[in-house]
Amino acid sequence: MLEQFQSPFDATVVQLLRNAGARIVGKANCDEFGMGSLNVHSAHGPVVNPHQTASSSASWEERERRSAGGSSGGSAAAVASSLAHVALGTDTGGSVRLPASYCGVVGLKPSYGLLSRWGLVSYADSLDCVGILGQNVQHVAQTLDLLSHYDPKDPSAVTPETRKRASEACLAHANKIDLAGKLDGLKIGIPQEYFPSELDSKILGPFRRVVDALKTLGASVVPVNMPSTPYALSAYYVIASAEASSNLARYDGIQYGLRVDAPLDADLTKTVNVYAHTRSRGFGSEVQKRILLGTYALTAGAFDNYFLQAQRVRKLVREDFDNVFRVANPLSTSSSASPSGVDVLLHPSAIRTAPLLPPSGCEPEGDSEDLSSYVQDVLTVPASLAGVPAVSVPAGLADDGWPVGVSVVSQWGYDNMVLDVARIIE
Ligand code: GLN
Repeated sequence: MLEQFQSPFDATVVQLLRNAGARIVGKANCDEFGMGSLNVHSAHGPVVNPHQTASSSASWEERERRSAGGSSGGSAAAVASSLAHVALGTDTGGSVRLPASYCGVVGLKPSYGLLSRWGLVSYADSLDCVGILGQNVQHVAQTLDLLSHYDPKDPSAVTPETRKRASEACLAHANKIDLAGKLDGLKIGIPQEYFPSELDSKILGPFRRVVDALKTLGASVVPVNMPSTPYALSAYYVIASAEASSNLARYDGIQYGLRVDAPLDADLTKTVNVYAHTRSRGFGSEVQKRILLGTYALTAGAFDNYFLQAQRVRKLVREDFDNVFRVANPLSTSSSASPSGVDVLLHPSAIRTAPLLPPSGCEPEGDSEDLSSYVQDVLTVPASLAGVPAVSVPAGLADDGWPVGVSVVSQWGYDNMVLDVARIIE
């Protein structure tokens, strides 16, 4: 749809990077409109994971072709192969954390509303976050510092007052825990619902090693329950598709992007035909599927059963997070501090290591995809629905020689705390 389109302006986040002297070296491949988990829904073809297993002496052509994850797979691959120190991506439901986990790099989804969405191609506005991928936590933290500014051009940007209040609360709390010293003030929760049947047991070894290392350093690690987690994935796909169907209505063949004129003998009116022909040709099959699903969820007959239910689940997921954290949610007047709560959550970032890509030349069509690609997001979407910060940090290699990521999640506005804990894990 946007093949020939050149944006006339830079996104605020890109402008901030340029102002600080960063060199922008390129645009990265990604799933079309951010829809996907494996970066196979791209007009440019899939992104091949650049990770090299220790045993692999084969040439590039002969090596195992695994997915770099999606949707921001190109950004993760660029960082993993040292083409860039940091890369930006979008994380609507896990698109920065999942590729980070598969490629063995650090990937942060900041608190919703901290980084400007101005210039970002909208997928689902209430979930979209600009995310940061980096070779190490320090690079990601420096970039976050640079990009976390109020931008009046983003209507969902958090106000300067709220930012100040949250960052002071985060700093005061971090000082109390003393993350630079012995970790005996740090309480880590392991959400029991984040170990679904789909989780590959190969992930558990590296995850346990991280937990043991944190315990040895003095942190207390406790199980916690987040009972709405099993419903988060379905709710996410209803909400994200509904918002996408509305956002993508702007690609109409008239204002910008591709235009496909109707054949002359068409029966319908000219305008409708331009719209239909443009959208049938311009959108890939995965995007068309989401538009249909989202439009359906918003129709009068389905609205109560799908969209409203999904919004209810979203509220419950948010409450799950507020219930487990020690600190109150700075955005919610109904949330209060609970002294017995945890400071951060820790869980595997993904249910498995990078999946194999189909052989070159037989990329999957949207229709032939089974549901397995949607399941990849099961551990990342809850933090997206709640808008809280989450970072995936490399936790070593699984038995198959491929990277495993663990995620650190905290209360809204406690981005520096998740990065501080990620630094300890790194
Ligand atoms: N895989 C999820 C989706 O397709 C997440 C994508 C994203 O975060 N952009 O919706």
